[in-house]
Amino acid sequence: MANQIEITDRNRVRRLPERGVYDREQVYAILDSSFLCHVGFIQDGQPFVIPTNYGRRNDEVLCHGSAASRMMKHLAQGNAACITVTLVDGLVLARSGFHSSINYRSVVVFGHGHEITDPAEKNDALYAISENICPGRWRDIRGPSPQELKGTTVVRVPIESASAKIRTGPPKDDEEDYALPMWAGVLPLHTAAGELVRDPRLAPAVPVPDYLQQYISKHRG
Ligand SMILES: Cc1cc2nc3c(=O)[nH]c(=O)nc-3n(C[C@H](O)[C@H](O)[C@H](O)COP(=O)(O)OP(=O)(O)OC[C@H]3O[C@@H](n4cnc5c(N)ncnc54)[C@H](O)[C@@H]3O)c2cc1C
Repeated sequence: MANQIEITDRNRVRRLPERGVYDREQVYAILDSSFLCHVGFIQDGQPFVIPTNYGRRNDEVLCHGSAASRMMKHLAQGNAACITVTLVDGLVLARSGFHSSINYRSVVVFGHGHEITDPAEKNDALYAISENICPGRWRDIRGPSPQELKGTTVVRVPIESASAKIRTGPPKDDEEDYALPMWAGVLPLHTAAGELVRDPRLAPAVPVPDYLQQYISKHRG
């Protein structure tokens, strides 16, 4: 797979094209920094954009959900989807509303769904999604029963095309506005892990596992 994603009419960033990124590693690094995506698809002329979890494995996005879900049925039937992931890095507080912005890293992926039906492959895909959300958790918990696996649809969406768009840095104000007296700059924002809240029904002797301690250390605010 080439390291540069081919730029076509479908994935070419038009507005502020200098922010467009097609380097596969950078695109995948953004995908690997989140577990929340939005799946966009059209059914009978009606667009739907549905938030859901995902994981990336090689050149595929993996999604799972109830076998009754509209989105999962759509993907399982091999239909087209557009999947987006957005990481917000900060508020860009410019001297005018026009130049006020957001620092972000976002990705748009295009592909068609393929249902994973083989139970072992399904289990592997669920593991990949779980690892993307909370590394180490899957090995700690009870695995899916045959009945649970049956009621869960798992799909892979090979990444046919993709783009990233990245904004970094301070506001870009009009030259004459730099003399204005208000504060300007960036308010960095990030998602941080808080304090663990024990399940009231958790036996007191059960310790906090290492992988959660590591997660908290990595994502401390
Ligand atoms: C947090 C955040 C806030 C934003 N706020 C605004 C806003 O308020 N107003 C506004 O107009 N735009 C905003 N944008 C930018 C917006 O996502 C589009 O980039 C913008 O509408 C311009 O699209 P376009 O017309 O150039 O491309 P389009 O013709 O819409 O898209 C062409 C192709 O470019 C690629 N592309 C476009 N945008 C992105 C993206 N963000 N990430 C990855 N690939 C992309 C896709 O492959 C797409 O198919 C925001 C983006 C983010 C992440």
